[in-house]
Amino acid sequence: MAIAKLTSGDKARTTPVFIGIAVALLAAIVATSLYSFREFSLRGAMERARMAAEIVRVSLTESMVNGTIDKREQLLTRVAHGAGLAEVRVVRGPKVIQQFGKGMANEGERDEIDDVVLKSGVAEYVSTTGSGGPVLRATIPYIAEHGSQPDCVLCHQVKPGDVLGAVTIRISLAETRKLALFWVVVLVSIAGFFAIAALYLMRRQFLPMAEVALNVETAVGRAAGGDFSVRLPVPEHGVAHDIAKGVNRLMHTLAVDINIINAKVEQLMEYDLPRSRNMLLSTLEMVEGLVDAGRFKQAIEEDETKQQIYVRLARVIREVFDIDQFSIYEVANSKNHMRAVVVDGMMEGEAHWCDQEILVRASACRARRTGHAVDGVVEPLVCPMFKGNADGSGTRYMCLPMQQSGNAGCVVQLVANEETAQLIRALVPFLRVYLRETAPVLEAKRLMESLRESSLQDAMTGLYNRRFVEAYVETLQATVTRKGTHVAIMMFDIDHFKKVNDTYGHDAGDKVLVTVAGVLKETLRKSDILVRYGGEEFLAFLMDTTGDGGVTAAEKVRLAVENRKIPLPTGVLQKTISIGVADFPGDSTDFWEAVKFADTALYTAKERGRNRVVRFTSDLWKADDK
Ligand code: GH3
Ligand code: MG
Ligand code: MG
Repeated sequence: MAIAKLTSGDKARTTPVFIGIAVALLAAIVATSLYSFREFSLRGAMERARMAAEIVRVSLTESMVNGTIDKREQLLTRVAHGAGLAEVRVVRGPKVIQQFGKGMANEGERDEIDDVVLKSGVAEYVSTTGSGGPVLRATIPYIAEHGSQPDCVLCHQVKPGDVLGAVTIRISLAETRKLALFWVVVLVSIAGFFAIAALYLMRRQFLPMAEVALNVETAVGRAAGGDFSVRLPVPEHGVAHDIAKGVNRLMHTLAVDINIINAKVEQLMEYDLPRSRNMLLSTLEMVEGLVDAGRFKQAIEEDETKQQIYVRLARVIREVFDIDQFSIYEVANSKNHMRAVVVDGMMEGEAHWCDQEILVRASACRARRTGHAVDGVVEPLVCPMFKGNADGSGTRYMCLPMQQSGNAGCVVQLVANEETAQLIRALVPFLRVYLRETAPVLEAKRLMESLRESSLQDAMTGLYNRRFVEAYVETLQATVTRKGTHVAIMMFDIDHFKKVNDTYGHDAGDKVLVTVAGVLKETLRKSDILVRYGGEEFLAFLMDTTGDGGVTAAEKVRLAVENRKIPLPTGVLQKTISIGVADFPGDSTDFWEAVKFADTALYTAKERGRNRVVRFTSDLWKADDK
């Protein structure tokens, strides 16, 4: 895309302004030259008049001394001719006339200026225009001086300071004026030549530069807005040509490079940027998003449990994306169930935005089933399971699946009102980057957890198994030793269990086992560790509890089991259990030995008639002689 040149209007405006300045400059030159030439010619003429007057005075005095004063008319003509003067005329002052008479005919013709000068003794200069052009007329008085050579007062009957006479000199200024005009013309021609040269240079050099500068400004402005498509018109030659070409090359390179970066970032984000947006800014945003997501991935990889990952993801949605209303649903491993991990941004809330059916039948969830984002912003009725806008409240939603093993392992649901929905929708591409990073890590954690659970847990009762105890003992022993506390070890065995199997069958036996395990879970604390140790034998480790505390807890369990009615198809069954209790490290600092002591106490309980709790004492061990 090319941009506009300087318009012809711009040029049309620039030229007259320049011409105006040039004309004003020329006028100023003409005016000052004319004025100074006039001044110079006047002052020069005045000086010449004074010199001529002096020559006339000296010549007249000489004539007087030499007795040739009668020939003074020829003298004056010679002086006038020699000095190039238009006229030299002398008039006598009143005292000289009184002493020597009127003199020659023209010496008596006095005009007003002569009178003024004779009277005042001060020279008068008048410039007039005659038929031959401009003329300076100077009338200069001769003043009597005492002590001059020759002394005026000796011949004239006057006092020093009296005006003896005056000489009038006319000097033509025509020649000088002509010369002045000639030089003014020369000056104006030189200035005019330079003005035209400057105008030419301006049009050829300055205007293209100005045009390029203007275009560069536009191009840079657009580039700052992420638009690198601007190309400058290139002038034919000069610096402007180089600049325009350089800028175009730069714009081209930027456009190409940004496009490449953009395409790569889009690939990484799996998102096509709307072309209408500021490419530079949105690329920057995307890169920042990717970097943050990368950091996030590193953090969740180092998390220990799925739960920690969910907490971290929830924090990102809340704090980075500023979304408060969101839920995370987790699809159960093997079963077609879902559970809400986060509801409305809070951990472990009650799922209420969707029909409860999705919890027991995960395929009812559209995002889970299809593996595609469900856009309830554009199409609020797209998912019949969403109940948020059933009351016509205009609630919008966006459900994003997280793919794990080819299926949606989790679904993130964003809920918004009509106003904020579009805003949230715009954030989705960025959020999906996080979800894509989360999915494989979550999957790995899930596999790890299920693997660990399956090998360390008893599938029927959900309690830990013997292998767990073997793996766990070291940690437990270290913790207890470090904290300096006690663990009460309980060993349970169901009384006459064989009879249940024999009388009601194995299924009933299993039911009894599950029920007893349930009673253990209900009665003991969450922090206690419950283990199905053998067929119908259970172990419990009661943390921070002594042997005596263990006896109390065991008694509670015993009573709870005794009172529990177990429904069977054939009727209700009630069973009892026997319990042995030992204290680690109270009874033995060897954990396995303490377990053995609990078993010994259990054996004693059976011996003493069952349905009872026996606290281990060392005499039992000795008595057993084991
Ligand atoms: P006592 O009061 O002396 O403990 O008598 P008892 O009948 O309970 O004897 P014992 O503890 O030796 O019984 C173990 C029986 O538990 C053997 C086995 O048939 C049964 N059993 C072990 N595991 C299971 C199981 O997973 N399911 C069922 N139904 N029975 C099991
Ligand atoms: Mg047994
Ligand atoms: Mg038994």
